[in-house]
Amino acid sequence: MIKRVEVQYRGIFQKNLAKKIGSDIVMIASSMGQRAFSNGRYSDAPERNGIPCKYFAFVSPDLSEEELEAECGAKLEIDEANVSVVLDDTMCKGVEPWGWHGVRPINERVVKDGCLVVITKRPHEELLQFIGKKPYNYRLATLDGEASLAGLWVNKDDLTYEHVLGAIAAVEPTIISIEAVEAYLMKKTKDKKRAEAARAAYNSLRQEAKPPRVKTVTPNEGIVWTHEIPVLPKWFEMQEGAVVPAVPRGFQMGPKGQSRNTGFKRGTTKTQRPAVRFDLCTKCTLCWAECPDECFDPTTDGYYDIEYQYCVGCGKCAEVCPVKECIVMVDELQFHDNNSPWEDWKKDPKTYITSLEAKKGTERVNYPVVTGKGVIVTKGEVMPEGKIVPVRKTEEVEV
Ligand code: SF4
Ligand code: SF4
Repeated sequence: MIKRVEVQYRGIFQKNLAKKIGSDIVMIASSMGQRAFSNGRYSDAPERNGIPCKYFAFVSPDLSEEELEAECGAKLEIDEANVSVVLDDTMCKGVEPWGWHGVRPINERVVKDGCLVVITKRPHEELLQFIGKKPYNYRLATLDGEASLAGLWVNKDDLTYEHVLGAIAAVEPTIISIEAVEAYLMKKTKDKKRAEAARAAYNSLRQEAKPPRVKTVTPNEGIVWTHEIPVLPKWFEMQEGAVVPAVPRGFQMGPKGQSRNTGFKRGTTKTQRPAVRFDLCTKCTLCWAECPDECFDPTTDGYYDIEYQYCVGCGKCAEVCPVKECIVMVDELQFHDNNSPWEDWKKDPKTYITSLEAKKGTERVNYPVVTGKGVIVTKGEVMPEGKIVPVRKTEEVEV
C-alpha cells in the first residue's frame, strides 16, 4: 500500500517550505517504521515567481524502499493523492501545473475520501465557489492561516511548516501520527513551541473541534470546471524536426487586442490582481510600458485594459502608477472571472467603481517578497469619482 501526499505551493516564495514539509514527512514516517521518500517538481522555469508547483511525499508500511521507488520515483505528476496540501488559498481557482496543460482543478488528484487541506482564513463554502466538482465524496479541511509567502528561496519561519505536519497527522494518521510529529520536532529543534504548534493544528482539525474545520464535500458541491484542457498533438501529428510554431502576430485596439500565446497563459500564478479605477487614470502609459508580461491592451479612448488570463500578479503596474488608488493589488479570490475591466467600467462606471471598492476593502496588502520582508499592510482610501491625486501611499500600519 502507498499513501501519497501532494504539497501545492507557489514557486520560489514557498519552495523551501514545501520541500521541508515533503522531506520531513519522510523522516517522520520512517521513525514510525514505514518506508518513504519525497521529490518535487517545478512546473516551469524557476524564475516564474508564484508559479503553481508541487512537492510529493510517498509513504508505505509494507513495501521495500526499492519497491516504493520503482512505483513512485521519477514521476513528474502523480495520479492520485490521499492528502493534498494547498499553501496559498488563491490556488483554489485552479493551477496550471504545466505551462501548456491548461488550468486544472486544485483537487484533481484527491482520491475518494481523501483530503484537501487548504491554509486559509475563508470558510469552506467560499472556497467551494472556485473548486471543481468531484464525482465522489472527499474532505476539505481549512487550516487557519495566511499564505506563507517568503522572500526568494527563503523559508519564512511562521510555524506554517509545523501546522501543516500537525494537519496531515489529523486527516491521515496512517501517514504520520501526531505523536511521531511531536517527537520528531522536539528531537530536531528542541523547541517546545514547535511541537505545540503542530498539536494545535492537529486539534483544530479533529472531528470534535468547534467550529468543525473538516467538511465532507459531496458530488453536488463545487463548480463545473470551465477551463479548456488543451489537447497535445500525438506523435504522428507532429511536424518533422524541432518545430515550434510562432505565435501569430496581430494587434488591434481594445480588450484582448494584441496577439498572445494562447497555450501559455500564466494567470494562475497570481495571489493578487491589479484592480484599476479608470476614472482616476491619467493615461500616462506607465503601466502599459512597464508590465513585464504585456498584459495591457490600449483602448480607443486612450486607457489601458488588462488581460487577466496572462497577468501574473507581480504588482509592477500598481507600483509605477503615479495616481493614488488608481491601480491597487487585490486578493485574487475576490474575483470570479477574467472579464475585461475596461468593458465593465464603460458599461456602467458607477456600479464598476462601487463593486471594485468593495473588493478592495480597507487594507492594501503588499508582499515585498523579493526582499523577504513578508507582508506589509497599509490603509486604503476610497477616492471620489474622478479625483486624481498624484501621491503614493506611504503609511505603514503593520509589518
Ligand atoms: S500585476 Fe500588472 S505588471 Fe504585473 S503582470 Fe499583472 S498587469 Fe502586468
Ligand atoms: S499607470 Fe496608472 S495613470 Fe498611468 S496609464 Fe496606467 S492606470 Fe493610467
